[in-house]
Amino acid sequence: MATALSAQQTAKPKPEDTEVWTPVPPIVTPGATDAAPPSDAIVLFDGKNQDEWVSAQDKTPAKWVVADGILTVSKAPGVGNIETKRKFKNYQLHIEFRIPANIAGSGQARGNSGVFLASTGPGDDGYELQVLDSYNNTTYVNGQGASIYKQSAPLVNPARKPGEWESYDVVWTAPTFNADGTVKTPAYVTAFFNGVLVQNHFELKGETLYIGKPFYKKYDSASIKLQAHGDKSEPLSFRNIWARELP
Ligand code: MG
Repeated sequence: MATALSAQQTAKPKPEDTEVWTPVPPIVTPGATDAAPPSDAIVLFDGKNQDEWVSAQDKTPAKWVVADGILTVSKAPGVGNIETKRKFKNYQLHIEFRIPANIAGSGQARGNSGVFLASTGPGDDGYELQVLDSYNNTTYVNGQGASIYKQSAPLVNPARKPGEWESYDVVWTAPTFNADGTVKTPAYVTAFFNGVLVQNHFELKGETLYIGKPFYKKYDSASIKLQAHGDKSEPLSFRNIWARELP
């Protein structure tokens, strides 16, 4: 016993013990302007077309409206949500959105859309980072803009006025599952709203449900989905959407 103790005392921890030198992170050239995609980004919308997107309902080509470099929700009957053709596990996402200047309605019916960080079904299924007018618009805080819907209110509210462009920057860590469908590791999200931290490594309780308690459904990789909420007022627009896959 005395010998073991003495050995422990002589093995004095050194700074180098906890230094990690490899693998060296790959060099990435950042974009020229604030939110321009970095060199290794997967560009999901660059203002020209919606080729990276399909209808969430039936996987036919997306039928939202591309004009003047922006992508606008279509209110045509039966169009609905769109989602990426690509499937993702862990990723970083940048997306910009604009709630129309003349938005009408109140609460959840005022500028409602959503970024589903993993789309696990054709309807509203998945994990929603809420898009909603949060400038002088009262609603339940875990359903306001930049909430993880019905699970986590944003830490602060950095919303801009309707008519101004806003941004989300998101780090999504996908849940992992055991063979029997039980959760191995939960999903985590970190999000910045207009550059301000609003979700800090939040551990999700499962999919974000409108009704009922959240629970997980096993998936491997999933699309990113944008919501056409179907409000009566003028629809929302998006621009400059890109992602980076993470290990
Ligand atoms: Mg929504």
